Amino acid sequence: MRRQPPLPPALRDGNYPRWNLELVERYPRALAEMRSPSRPLGYVDTRPLARWGIEVRAGWRGLVERTLARLEAEIAAQPLEQQAQFRVVDIKAKFGRLTIHLEASGTATMEAAIHDAFEESARLCEVCSAPGELAERGPTGWWSTRCRNHEDWSPHDEAARLN
Ligand SMILES: [Zn+2]
Repeated sequence: MRRQPPLPPALRDGNYPRWNLELVERYPRALAEMRSPSRPLGYVDTRPLARWGIEVRAGWRGLVERTLARLEAEIAAQPLEQQAQFRVVDIKAKFGRLTIHLEASGTATMEAAIHDAFEESARLCEVCSAPGELAERGPTGWWSTRCRNHEDWSPHDEAARLN
């Protein structure tokens, strides 16, 4: 494979976590929006992926990676001049499921990869990757997929343990 040019300074400044940057190197077509944003950073219409990177917890990283590998292969199979329109613009948890958006409608293969990730995320703990269950949680009733060990886990617990 052709060697990719170095990441732009905005990425090297550490705006994204290291595991995000590793994925940008591995899946340059799918994650082109992080490598070279289609709109300038810091504007209201900046794509969420360019702005915040991949917004999932550690338990879903493997699922995100597998899905990006499928997307990257399918994007690479498209005519060169069409590849940019299939770049990912958003990866996040929405109502407890992994939600991925492309700039334009994807091919059937791309949409299948995104759909599979959406389905699988409802059975995979977002904290640790163990088998989990999608349910409404906490006093405010937000949706999340968790295993039995992480039913009540919150990022604040993690911060407290590290301190
Ligand atoms: Zn868990």
